[in-house]
Amino acid sequence: MLSNGAGLLTTAQGATIVAKQQSPETFVAGWSQEARCRESNVGKGEFAGRRLADLTWAETRDAIAQGTGVILPVGATEQHGLHLPLATDYICATELALAVAPATNMLVAPAVTYGSRSRPLTGGGQAFAGTTSVRAVTLMALITDVLKEFLRHGFRRLVLLNWHYENSNFVYEAAFEAMEHTDAAKILIFEHGLNELKPETIQTVFEEDFPGLAVEHAAAYETSVMLHLHPELVHFERAVDDRSARRTWYDIIPPPADITTRSGTLWKARRASAEKGRLLWGEIVPQVTEAIERDLAD
Ligand SMILES: [Zn+2]
Repeated sequence: MLSNGAGLLTTAQGATIVAKQQSPETFVAGWSQEARCRESNVGKGEFAGRRLADLTWAETRDAIAQGTGVILPVGATEQHGLHLPLATDYICATELALAVAPATNMLVAPAVTYGSRSRPLTGGGQAFAGTTSVRAVTLMALITDVLKEFLRHGFRRLVLLNWHYENSNFVYEAAFEAMEHTDAAKILIFEHGLNELKPETIQTVFEEDFPGLAVEHAAAYETSVMLHLHPELVHFERAVDDRSARRTWYDIIPPPADITTRSGTLWKARRASAEKGRLLWGEIVPQVTEAIERDLAD
């Protein structure tokens, strides 16, 4: 469907129906520019903290009018070993969004805090207390609905920033569905909050045996980032190095105990440090910033 901006929708068949919900822009169309300035008092690019949910609706309206975009962080509520909180994935997704938002003129939406089911080979699996997942169809429906709301508000620059391995593909599918009938907006989808690292960074952080990011769950990578961002949430004295007895190249349902670990950490967490986290963050943030500047300039 196409919107003509006046609350009317034109179907593919050409029939016009009245939209059930008016956009904020329609609602306040009669108000003077002077009154609008009083309402939000927001100059271009001035949004303290950059959190969308902290803004009033009038500030949000004016941010959109200024070309400000929105980032939707997507994470999970999932075990992260004996030393990291269940919230690790959506904390990292949100912090990364907040780090790139000022330079790219973006706002950061409240995160999607539940993710697709944890799998034994990449997240430890569902057997750990507190790992609270949703079905892929639920996740996709939620993300699609939220993105469609952003489009309805008038956001034209959107970013989906995922930090939970098992959400990959599903976030792309949800974005595709939301964007399928609009050509007025653009979205960047980061299936992982990380591109390739420099070889010297891999050497410094993971030393001689980098296992690949799939098993870097609650290990050196995430633990270092959390020590850098939120040391108060890390019980580093409880961190262990761990590995599954067996690593298959296929999945098994129900999962046998030997393809995951008892601790929930899938590799070596003890070699994490805040300094390594600072190094990783110093690579991740510019990568995402540059991508948005390149392909989603305001
Ligand atoms: Zn994680």
